[in-house]
Amino acid sequence: MIRQATILCAAAALAFAFAVPNGPIPAVFAAAPQQRSQAPGFYRMMLGDFEVTALLDGTHPSPDEEVLTHAAPDPAAPRTRLFAEDRDRALSLLAAADLPAPTEGSINAFLINTGKRLVLIDSGAGSLYGDCCGHLIENLRAAGYQPEQVDEVLLTHLHADHVGGIAPHGRMAFPNAVVRAGKADATYWLSAANEQAAPAFLHGMFEGARAALKPYIDQNKFRPIEGDEEIVPGIMARSAPGHTPGHSVYAVESKGQKLLVWGDVIHLGAIQFLDPSVTVKYDSDEAKAQAMRESLLAEAVRDRFWIAAAHISFPGLGHVGPAPIGFTWIPANYTTQLGTPSP
Ligand SMILES: [Zn+2]
Ligand SMILES: [Zn+2]
Repeated sequence: MIRQATILCAAAALAFAFAVPNGPIPAVFAAAPQQRSQAPGFYRMMLGDFEVTALLDGTHPSPDEEVLTHAAPDPAAPRTRLFAEDRDRALSLLAAADLPAPTEGSINAFLINTGKRLVLIDSGAGSLYGDCCGHLIENLRAAGYQPEQVDEVLLTHLHADHVGGIAPHGRMAFPNAVVRAGKADATYWLSAANEQAAPAFLHGMFEGARAALKPYIDQNKFRPIEGDEEIVPGIMARSAPGHTPGHSVYAVESKGQKLLVWGDVIHLGAIQFLDPSVTVKYDSDEAKAQAMRESLLAEAVRDRFWIAAAHISFPGLGHVGPAPIGFTWIPANYTTQLGTPSP
């Protein structure tokens, strides 16, 4: 009896739910199509008075097996591929972060609005990495800016995934900007003699750097950075060679808050935070890159400043913490509390 009453009640409720002034809605419920697209690739935080916007250029399967290297027990011996020599350890480090190989790697860039200057640090791959990437401009627009508004483009180094976005298909993306990068990187990557002497897998990097910088050099808008220098008030370039000869990091500071935009200090966080001795075959000087990583990680833990990283999972903003072995990455806590913009 109770069961019959329940069924009657349910039927009455359904009839009520579908009763509309012009009659019942036809009982056809098509499944909503899946969208298969991601949210726009920007994420914002405030750093003192500066507005920092992380911009995603794209994600792509990272060739971890091919590029990660490590030192042999004999320090004089050349470095070997991590996955070839110690595959189980590499896979177990990835598994601890619930990641398969290859991992999906992010390419991030960072837009700093100081209130007086609009500064983009790194520019993504432009047209050099295919369809996966080169989405920086659309994400910059989605974030409320136009490429013409950018005053300065500061490059951490001249690898394709950092410089390519300044001139996709050879056309200037930031027509009103001055472009800067470490002088040692410009000297190295713009030299035909260095290209000839470099291993074949690097030749595309030379071509990419040359093509991307050309329109800016032609218009006298490329300025090599000589050493540690303040580029605009609150943004300081610091030489951090190793990954490339002129690799630079940029210290951004406002009202006592500090962010270090550190380019390619870390490529694969799941492995290199735990074991900073792991290098990549794209390092110009692997031992120097390792020493620079270890020193910057120790500094980041000691001074607790923010990090903005090119290849840590988007938005690549967070802090470095100590860990029983190596270090740990503490991603930024998501927030919509950014305060009221000044008029
Ligand atoms: Zn690089
Ligand atoms: Zn990179």
